[in-house]
Amino acid sequence: MNEKYDVVVVGGGAAGLAGALALARARRSVLVVDAGHPRNAPAGHVHNYLGRESTPPAELVAIGRDEVTGYGGEVVAGTVTAAARTEDGFEVTLDDGRSVRARRLLVTTGLVDELPDIDGVAERFGRDVLHCPYCHGWEARDQAIGVIGSNPLAVHAVLLWRQLSADVTLFRHQAPELTDEQREELAARGIRVVEGEVAAVEVTDDRLTGVRMASGEVVPREVVVVAPRFTARAGLLTALGLEVTEQVVQGHVIGTYVAADPTGATAVPGVWVAGNVANVTAQVIVSASGGMTAGAAINADLVAEDTRQAVAAHRAGVFAREGEVGELVGGARRHGI
Ligand SMILES: Cc1cc2nc3c(=O)[nH]c(=O)nc-3n(C[C@H](O)[C@H](O)[C@H](O)COP(=O)(O)OP(=O)(O)OC[C@H]3O[C@@H](n4cnc5c(N)ncnc54)[C@H](O)[C@@H]3O)c2cc1C
Repeated sequence: MNEKYDVVVVGGGAAGLAGALALARARRSVLVVDAGHPRNAPAGHVHNYLGRESTPPAELVAIGRDEVTGYGGEVVAGTVTAAARTEDGFEVTLDDGRSVRARRLLVTTGLVDELPDIDGVAERFGRDVLHCPYCHGWEARDQAIGVIGSNPLAVHAVLLWRQLSADVTLFRHQAPELTDEQREELAARGIRVVEGEVAAVEVTDDRLTGVRMASGEVVPREVVVVAPRFTARAGLLTALGLEVTEQVVQGHVIGTYVAADPTGATAVPGVWVAGNVANVTAQVIVSASGGMTAGAAINADLVAEDTRQAVAAHRAGVFAREGEVGELVGGARRHGI
């Protein structure tokens, strides 16, 4: 690690690596610090990533790292524990005590999926406990799917999963009482509704086999869908003075994010965000796109700063030379030359 970089990127998932790639290719010195826990790590494959469909998550990250380092970017393993403003940029501290300075920061720390407190859900999340039809829907097609409701969006979710299988059950659990219209919609699509609290997901021989109700009844299912709360991993950003904003969908809060302009620039000068920390619904390809956009915007910002500094130095040089000429002329006159 050098003492100072043009840009330090905090987080080396799709967003961070794409930002670093754009910066390295723009001949910026860039350091990516990555704790190494991308959100989709439990999943077998990345889907809906055009050109790399079905690549394992760790492989996609490894390819991205090679691309960044291939252009002179640096990637180190570690966790950034603090970022503070200095006179000319930022000081970034890592968990091993090292610190490094940066002119700009790109924060791509992702989000935390806060899962419902149901036995077995956390252990199987990303395998057969799922949350996203675009990430896993094709793989769950035609299976016995159970959607566990926990908020007013449960009916919307269950209808999306019905597109993928004819055998879909809604466990109302903590979702609000269904309206007559919603019940009619679900009946029309052949979706069964189970009332009551869910206690656990049942697992046999490392395979999900059902949903156990608090009553003890077990409803056979092969795949379960839950609705995590998406919480921005924003500690470094709030310490720099930014706030988190609630992400509201149909009047319901589904998570938090850090607001930014379309390039990822936040309200704190010099700090950009991209990926899930800035957009809870961003898929991998969208996160990469956000990172690339932010990288380009940061380079443009640095180009403007470099140019301002060059103009100031240029003017200072011109004035100094003019001063020297003036002195020579004055001296010559005094000596009658
Ligand atoms: C189970 C599951 C499966 C998914 N499947 C798909 C799929 O098939 N297709 C798809 O498009 N999307 C999928 N997604 C969504 C996908 O995970 C996100 O779109 C993507 O990970 C967002 O990229 P990111 O770079 O913003 O964050 P992440 O990929 O989460 O990367 C953030 C990185 O920052 C690091 N980090 C965090 N804090 C610090 C810190 N303080 N210092 C240093 N490093 C730090 C983390 O360890 C991590 O490596 C899935 C999500 C889940 C939960």
